This record gives sequence, structure tokens and C-alpha cells, in this order.
Amino acid sequence: MAEKCVIIGSGPAAWTAAIYAARANLEPLVYEGGVSDDPRFAGMIPLGQLAFTTEVENFPSWPAGDLRAYLATALPKERQPYWVMDNGPQPSHTIEGPALVDLMKQQAMNFGTRIETKYINKVDFSKRPFDLTTEDGDKVVAQTVILATGARANYIGLPSEERFKNRGVSACAVCDGALPRFRNKPLVVVGGGDSAVEEATYLTKFASVVYLVHRRDALRASKIMAQRATTHPKIEMKWNRVVEEVLGDDKNGVTGVKLKSTVDDAKETLEAGGMFAAIGHTPNTEFLKGQVELEPTGYIRLTTPQRTYTSVPGVFAAGDVADSYYRQAVSAAGTGCMAALDAERFLAEHGVH
Ligand code: NAP
Repeated sequence: MAEKCVIIGSGPAAWTAAIYAARANLEPLVYEGGVSDDPRFAGMIPLGQLAFTTEVENFPSWPAGDLRAYLATALPKERQPYWVMDNGPQPSHTIEGPALVDLMKQQAMNFGTRIETKYINKVDFSKRPFDLTTEDGDKVVAQTVILATGARANYIGLPSEERFKNRGVSACAVCDGALPRFRNKPLVVVGGGDSAVEEATYLTKFASVVYLVHRRDALRASKIMAQRATTHPKIEMKWNRVVEEVLGDDKNGVTGVKLKSTVDDAKETLEAGGMFAAIGHTPNTEFLKGQVELEPTGYIRLTTPQRTYTSVPGVFAAGDVADSYYRQAVSAAGTGCMAALDAERFLAEHGVH
């Protein structure tokens, strides 16, 4: 029996799609990813990028507040945050990324969503129903598929960077920039594209100064964005340099960075309260190559404005896997809703109810 709707992914796009699909009686089956080493080490884990973030202050409906009673009643005991289970102090003033996405998952489960904790690592979209194969060789057949596997932020790859992730090292200024730890401190942004300029400009609201560290002597960013960075009174360009080491300690997190020149032997240490990597994202589409049209950047190509249609009828895409531009939890959730509605209409048009 073919499944009516299989959803691949486990971030806000996937769970929102599941909530809508379940309430439309599509009996969705979600493949939320698994625990195999390779995808996990590449930055893909169940619950997506939100699982890597701390406070989420910009997801509507989550103002600062006392969350204890809500989390204790909305989530089953075994999935409650440690501080709820231990009756310890609430660690942050607002919802944290892992809890937020876990609540979305629970909401999808409450409406009957079935979940497999496995990766789908092979798809055959050449005929419908579609064949999907899990990492351990299981097969599933689907009338519609919603692709919501997200994209992972690229990091420089330094051990010191890994050590301070979430304690001053971030890859999303909009997500983390307003946190108290970054206020009125020098901050470092690494990269030379539009994202780096946007992140640096955004961070000037909070930082005393933003150092934009770029490995060349010209920005890749569009002219207007580049000019915005180079003329901003609070952005200081650090041309022809790369970060050699992130400095810090267990108590304070990041306290600075060590830079080295890309053109000579010069080295420099900057005092800084945080480092933001803005060196691009990698969409999780490796398993889709040859099955659905991808952009040259690897993102899934959507074929119709304001729809989640891909090049394959019956296959829809939602969230960051098809969005190199907004990349926000709330925009991903919105497209998850759209994908489920698109799948529901597709099935109705094909006589599947
Ligand atoms: P991007 O354009 O690919 O730029 C990545 C930058 O990171 C490049 O400057 C690159 O240096 C640098 N880089 C890559 N690997 C590095 C490493 N290991 N160490 C140090 N530096 C490294 O990525 P993006 O800025 O995220 O932009 C992605 C797409 O979204 C682009 O098409 C962009 O125009 C678009 N976007 C648009 C806006 C906007 O219009 N408001 C905002 C954000 C993004 P090199 O230059 O030397 O290669």
C-alpha cells in the first residue's frame, strides 16, 4: 500500500507539513533522520538547525515568560528539557530551539503523525507512486513526498570553533545576535558574500564594532551591499585574513580570535565577544541528485511562484532545502503548511482521499 504523504526532514517545515497533512487525514509518515554517523557529523541531526540554537526570540507566539508549566504539560516526560525534569531554574528568558521544534513534533504526533527515526538516502521519482529507500535498506512507496531536509550552515572547521558553538560562535546573526552575550562587544563576522555583509550590518545594532574578516581583498557581495559594509562607521574590514583560532574559556565563551594573513606571515589577535561564520550553507540534497531539478547551488528548484512545486509532480519542497534567501524557522514553517496543502490538492486531483 502506498503512503499518501511521506515527509522527509524534521525541522519547522517538516513538522508544520505533518500537522497540516495529519489534520487533512493524509496520515503522514515522517522520516526525521537517524543517528548514522556520516549525516550527523555533516551537521544533519533530527530536529534540524533549531536543535543547534539556544534562545529563539523571533518565532511569533513565544515572548519571554515562564515556560515550566507549559513544557511539563505539552511534552511527554521523557522529552522534557532537563531543567523541567530536574525542577531547576529556567535557563533562558524565552523558548530554546530544541524545545521549540520538539513542541512542533509533539503537535504533529498529537494528530496521528507516524515517525521513523531513519534517513531516506535513496529516492526514485521516475514514476509515481515514488520509491524511497531508508539508510538500512527498507523500502517505502509514496503517492506524494514533501522534501524538507533543510540546509546546514558551513563552518570554518576549526576545533576551537566547534568548542564554542552556542557560546559565542554562531552562523546566524538574526537568530542569535540580540542575545545579551553579544551586547556592546566587538564581534567578528567571517565571509565576503551578501550574507556576511548582512550579518555584519545587522550586528552593528548590538556590537561596539564589527570586524568583517575576508580571505581576499574584494567582497563577493553585490556592489550595493559591499558599499554598505565598507562605508559603515561600525564595520571594520579585515582584508586578506582568515581565522586561525577562536579564543575563549569555559566561563565566558568566546573572548577573541586569532587571525592570520592570506598574503604574508602577519598574525593578529582581536578581542571579541562572538564570531559569526557567514561562509555559505549547504542544502541537504545529495540524495536527490538526478531525481529532482536542483539549482546550480544545490537547492531544490521550485517551479512556480508562491507554490511548493518541484520539477516532479507530486513532490513538494519546503523550508531551507529550497530557500537560500530567508532561512528562518517561521518562513520554513510557512512553506511546510503550503507544501501539505499542495500535496492534499494534488492527491484530491488524482482521486486519492
Ligand atoms: P556566498 O555568496 O557563497 O559567499 C560565501 C563567502 O564566504 C565568500 O565570500 C567566500 O569567499 C567565503 N568563504 C567560503 N568558504 C570560506 C572559508 N572556508 N573560509 C573563509 N571564507 C570562506 O554565500 P552567501 O553570502 O551566504 O550568499 C548565498 C546566496 O544568497 C548568494 O547568491 C547571495 O547573493 C544570496 N543572498 C542575498 C542576500 C541579499 O540580497 N540581501 C542576502 C544573503 C544572501 P570567496 O569570496 O573568496 O569565495
